[in-house]
Amino acid sequence: MTSCIFCQIIEGAVPSAKIYEDEHVYAFMDIMPVTKGHVLLIPKKHIENIYDFSAEEAANLYAVAPKIANVLKEEFRPAGLNLLQNNGAPAGQTVFHYHLHFIPRYDETDGFD
Ligand code: 5GP
Ligand code: ZN
Repeated sequence: MTSCIFCQIIEGAVPSAKIYEDEHVYAFMDIMPVTKGHVLLIPKKHIENIYDFSAEEAANLYAVAPKIANVLKEEFRPAGLNLLQNNGAPAGQTVFHYHLHFIPRYDETDGFD
């Protein structure tokens, strides 16, 4: 079995709260949300970070980003939305399977800078 936690989530070996899936990507709720509605969008292929993406693989993932954003807008009615993505441990990456964070923002009291 793979040691990658996100590959295990894709395979269903580790449970997750899935919000979207297609041939190329999988989206699920972050287990430690920094705000309400924090979602991760990942490629199904194990790609460590941005340096390993082909243009086609990146296009398949980012093609879904507006859909996820609109699901969150509908579901949580945030005031704003941050998309962010860490590459390498010094940049804050802790899971080495590419993931795009969707972090809904509510107001200045949501506790996230
Ligand atoms: P990073 O710091 O690598 O950019 O973000 C990794 C994210 O993955 C963190 O926000 C963390 O909470 C989330 N995460 C780590 N392990 C799991 C897990 O087993 N399930 C879910 N749903 N999220 C996870
Ligand atoms: Zn993986």
